[in-house]
Amino acid sequence: MKRRSLLKSGALVLLLGAQHLARGATIVAVRVWPAPDYSRVTIESDRELKAKQFFIGSPPRLAVDIEGIDLNPALKELVAKVAANDPNIAGIRVAQNTPGVVRLVVDLKQAISPQVFTLAPVAAYQHRLVFDLYPTQVRDPLEALITERLKDSGPAKPAADPLGELITQQNQKPGAKGDGGDGKVASAKPANAPQSIATAPATTGANGLNGNKKPSESKVATDAPDKTDRLIIVAIDPGHGGEDPGAIGPGGTREKDVVLRLAHRLRDRINASSINGNTMRAYLTRDADFFVPLHVRVQKAQHVQADLFISIHADAFFTPRPQGASVFALSQGGASSTAARWMAAKENKADLIGGLNVKAKDAQVKRALFDMSTTAQINDSLKLGGAMLGEIGRVGKLHKGKVEQASFAVLKAPDIPSVLVEAAFISNPEEEAKLNSNDYQEQLASALMRGIEGYFSKNPPLARNRTI
Ligand SMILES: [Zn+2]
Repeated sequence: MKRRSLLKSGALVLLLGAQHLARGATIVAVRVWPAPDYSRVTIESDRELKAKQFFIGSPPRLAVDIEGIDLNPALKELVAKVAANDPNIAGIRVAQNTPGVVRLVVDLKQAISPQVFTLAPVAAYQHRLVFDLYPTQVRDPLEALITERLKDSGPAKPAADPLGELITQQNQKPGAKGDGGDGKVASAKPANAPQSIATAPATTGANGLNGNKKPSESKVATDAPDKTDRLIIVAIDPGHGGEDPGAIGPGGTREKDVVLRLAHRLRDRINASSINGNTMRAYLTRDADFFVPLHVRVQKAQHVQADLFISIHADAFFTPRPQGASVFALSQGGASSTAARWMAAKENKADLIGGLNVKAKDAQVKRALFDMSTTAQINDSLKLGGAMLGEIGRVGKLHKGKVEQASFAVLKAPDIPSVLVEAAFISNPEEEAKLNSNDYQEQLASALMRGIEGYFSKNPPLARNRTI
């Protein structure tokens, strides 16, 4: 009898132990990040969750069985977190499937290519289980820019439009549309696109990329004698976003929010401007609060054949004292100062915090394309940075009087002059207040715009674009 009760209690202990292991995870938070590029659902927990997913095509929905938890109020919150205007998610349902397994069904508004992965604890986050839902049909951003521009200018000479011609070529390529079905980052075109349009600056001829010329490229150049028919595209890259808030000021201001507002102001100025009669268009690498991996930012700028790439940040230091704006360009060797190296290392961590699915093939391939930057690109970047720094210095304080250099991953487009602007130190209470003020944002956006115009006045984009 004694022995039997002992056995019984032993079994009970074992059972409890098993249950504890199976159901022990506590949900810390659930988040939904909607964006046209993709929508993300994050479940953050105190221990790693295992998930199995099934995609059902009609109507499109993703079912995910999450092991290691039971249905609880935190998970039920997900249902209410889906915004009506989420471009991809129609709704989320949760139910207890079996003990220790919760089934989550994501009803979708369109066909999607899901990526489900886990992230180890980093920064302020514990374990994260992430569902990234990429639409399989993607609107081509380059096409959108052209359409918008043709709408503005009427049907003026579309035949002489080199970008229009490139778009036509691209659309004629087999598989150029909607081929993100293998889980590639759908926002930027898959591997075939960047090469097919990497005709931009001729200054990079030495790096071999331009050796990959399309037969039509010289035709594009000679068919477009009318200088006024060149669309000048400036890629604006608001730093951070989504799971990655960037730096946070003492008053709670998030870097990702202030830089997006500043980017919108710069966009408005660019879209209202022209250079030597050439229409300008801004292209934002993100226009919502979602995570964009660093290499995707570069890839997006390349895809729209951006003439310039401007990454906007407002970073922090450990102490509140540092202040003033800085402008950075890429360095091929070491950083120009310890501070610049530190800043680059900090910015390059964005993918870790934002949550990159490192197992995705696409991420690996695209990252391998890094480090193809050329001296010509860096020299142009330094000129652009110098022009911008001079203008920022008229409206605010500068942290350093010259353009600094370090190995920023986001500045590595091999063919696009690229700078990273740290608009101010958000960690400095005064600068945090300025970053939040509409007045200062307006002044800063105007200064950045004058810097762009100053650069182009000395480095006309058309001259750079000629192949010989
Ligand atoms: Zn930043």
